[in-house]
Amino acid sequence: EAITIQELANRMAEKGADLVKALFKMGTPVTINDVIDQDTAELLVEEFGHRIQRVSESDIEIGIEGDQDAPETLKPRAPVVTIMGHVDHGKTSLLDALRGTDVVRGEAGGITQHIGAYQVKTKGGDIITFLDTPGHEAFTEMRARGANVTDIVILVVAADDGLMPQTIEAINHTKAAGVPMIVAINKVDKPEANPQRIRERLLEHEIVVEDLGGDVQDVQVSALKKTGLDELIEKILLQAELLELTANPDRAAEGNVIEAKLDKGRGPVATVLVRRGTLKVGDNFVVGAESGKVRAMVNDKGENVKVAGPSAPVEVLGLSGVPMAGDQLSVVENEARAREVAAYRSELATKKRTTAAPTSVEHMFSALNATVIEYPIVVKADVQGSVEAIVGALNRASTDEIKVRVLHSGVGAITESDVTLAAASRAPLIGFNVRPNAKARVLAERDKVSLRYYDVIYDLIEEVKGEMAGQLAPER
Ligand code: GDP
Repeated sequence: EAITIQELANRMAEKGADLVKALFKMGTPVTINDVIDQDTAELLVEEFGHRIQRVSESDIEIGIEGDQDAPETLKPRAPVVTIMGHVDHGKTSLLDALRGTDVVRGEAGGITQHIGAYQVKTKGGDIITFLDTPGHEAFTEMRARGANVTDIVILVVAADDGLMPQTIEAINHTKAAGVPMIVAINKVDKPEANPQRIRERLLEHEIVVEDLGGDVQDVQVSALKKTGLDELIEKILLQAELLELTANPDRAAEGNVIEAKLDKGRGPVATVLVRRGTLKVGDNFVVGAESGKVRAMVNDKGENVKVAGPSAPVEVLGLSGVPMAGDQLSVVENEARAREVAAYRSELATKKRTTAAPTSVEHMFSALNATVIEYPIVVKADVQGSVEAIVGALNRASTDEIKVRVLHSGVGAITESDVTLAAASRAPLIGFNVRPNAKARVLAERDKVSLRYYDVIYDLIEEVKGEMAGQLAPER
């Protein structure tokens, strides 16, 4: 496949003249409309510090996804925050309370448009983006689809209730994603609240808050009485500062779908969180297997906006169909290109569904830069005693070269949440005397999660050991 220098320059968001200059230096005099072959194109792409992404044998997709922005183009961006925790611990109340701290909304009289995410401007003028869908299912489902949009997780724990099953799940999902966590101890207005007990119980899950000598920030809040909110916001900003979050706002936009629906009056509508670049009305784009042209954008305050920069959530109108949550949106140069890429992606998606998902082996080798290989695994069993025995035996099966990492373990049937976690980390999912529920079964099938059932612990451990040994074998 050949490409003109101008087109390549467009895809890389570089000046055509600079590419011509670079080729001249390599001893190839060309003009901007000359066609170059794939090898030369690849050479140029690397020369300019972009990464090549092959979407097929003949099509190099450059500058559409996967490439990196030059350091000097990066500007600070707002942190993206997700709230997780057990049901009834106050996630929704806290999201509402935090929304209420927005100084802009205060001025404008406060119209709220629920679009799946919102932004708050703090008293100090900083911006924070909150994802409005609480819970770890959405978080992990997005991650399984390759959309790691969350920078910081707020773990809500009710001070009158303590650590509950979904609290533990949220902890494990957050750890698996490697996202920093801030603990919000909620409902401290209640007389029976016992924040200190929560901090101590968190130790059992290797969450050590600052008070107890660790590095996890915690804050006492009451979503109901609206206390502790300023402190929570301060801690989010502090965490964000440590993360040094940046993006290049001056390029073709890329983002991820937070939620999407078919609206009766407006047609397909998707809330997109812009990750980098600036999305503009009139832009042509692909999103998942759909394409479109931005007809209008609406922000979380119900206002029509013409542009949306990094970390901004906006409702986008003008799609060919309804995409899926987590799908990536990429702006492309024209309509023809948008349709072409959308068709290609749709074909790719069909192909993916019919071929096996990568095993955890491939996953680890591709992700491999670490010195010790990790073997991720999720364990569910019928009784607590079995869970403990299995996790203990698995941990003992670790060697210097390969380490078992139990992402999550628990008592009960295999649920959707277990499956999404396993899928996101490409981990096998073990059922000891338990089976998946119907929804989990469907999800496991779709995401090609390796489900394994055992009723003898010895068999389970031997099989895992065998697989671990296989992963260390030099041949692949
Ligand atoms: P979610 O299921 O985690 O989203 O929890 P909700 O936000 O729906 O809250 C569950 C219940 O706890 C509701 O009845 C809330 O009014 C109540 N609640 C939430 N935050 C607080 C709080 O800070 N103090 C008290 N006393 N009640 C709260």
